[in-house]
Amino acid sequence: MTALPLSIVVPCFNEEGCLRELHVRLTRAAASVGGDYEIVLINDGSRDRTWEIMRELAASDPRLVAINLSRNHGHQLALTAGLDLCAGERILIIDADLQDPPELLPEMLAEMDRAEADVVYAVRRARAGETAFKRGTAKAFYRILSRLADIEIPLDTGDFRLMSRRALDALLSLPEQARFIRGMVAWVGFRQVPIAYDRAERHAGQTNYPLSRMMRLALDAVTGFSTAPLRWASHFGLWLVAASVLLLAYIAISFLSGSVIQGWTSLMLVVVVLGAVQMFVLGMIGEYLGRLYIEAKRRPLYIVSEIAGRAGGRPNRLGHVAQEAEGTETIAASETPGGSGSRPIA
Ligand code: UDP
Ligand code: MG
Repeated sequence: MTALPLSIVVPCFNEEGCLRELHVRLTRAAASVGGDYEIVLINDGSRDRTWEIMRELAASDPRLVAINLSRNHGHQLALTAGLDLCAGERILIIDADLQDPPELLPEMLAEMDRAEADVVYAVRRARAGETAFKRGTAKAFYRILSRLADIEIPLDTGDFRLMSRRALDALLSLPEQARFIRGMVAWVGFRQVPIAYDRAERHAGQTNYPLSRMMRLALDAVTGFSTAPLRWASHFGLWLVAASVLLLAYIAISFLSGSVIQGWTSLMLVVVVLGAVQMFVLGMIGEYLGRLYIEAKRRPLYIVSEIAGRAGGRPNRLGHVAQEAEGTETIAASETPGGSGSRPIA
């Protein structure tokens, strides 16, 4: 089997409004660089017509592979599934909503060649159509993370990037459940170079990253790349020891000089503040402990229920691919169900 030069991997959740335009623009971008390629779309348990559209696309385009996960696994795991099952020598990761322009592909490939890099990551210069709140929190997050993390994670960089096969294989050798892929890629090392771009507005639909999901990703990032928060507790404890020595001296002097110390207010303050700090520290330890527990179960990272499109021995190291899904052939156009519910392809 000759090596496939390029894979384009796209996680999709409720993206029915974007898929056709995405397919057109990806195809145009890939054709402009020449050579064979595959487009790997992952349906992450969408509740709209995403999977039906994917199957139709897979039936009409032999270069398109559609992977259906058994339920919503979340962006980072859906992406992991696509990366695990793609076959290309170079791999482009891109969002389905066309916020990241596929037209950047030739430039990224050229940069990879020129710099002899293993990763070309796209840095957001401007972000259109996103709320000031999202831009502000994202900006703050990347800066806090870079302070905390033990490795250098590029600022203002999403998952939009081009990777070499050896960098991807290294990435896929990291088995963790709590995945913050942009950080894990940085951890892998090799030569990684930036390329600047302007982030566009969503083509259709709405963001699938509400605040709660962003918080979770942020916690995955912090706990995944730093144990500094665990050290804060002991630092804070040391400062408290110093403070209590001073307080003890103050009390002793007051006692010896015969004055009575009063202070319901100060007492309550100390009790409440210390209680809050203790709860916070406990919660932080809990974040690490919970992740440790999840990791200890060693569950597969994703479950694939169906694959439509190009058949062939796809690597699968991190997930579980249901029996029917393996070795499925491209389905004929006439076989595609007209919008009826998805069924395994025999
Ligand atoms: N996504 C996914 N699973 C999810 C949430 C999002 O596969 O549970 C995909 C989504 O379809 C898109 C990408 O992840 O391709 C980024 O999501 P989104 O555009 O909603 O995030 P934002 O760009 O607003 O941060
Ligand atoms: Mg988006």
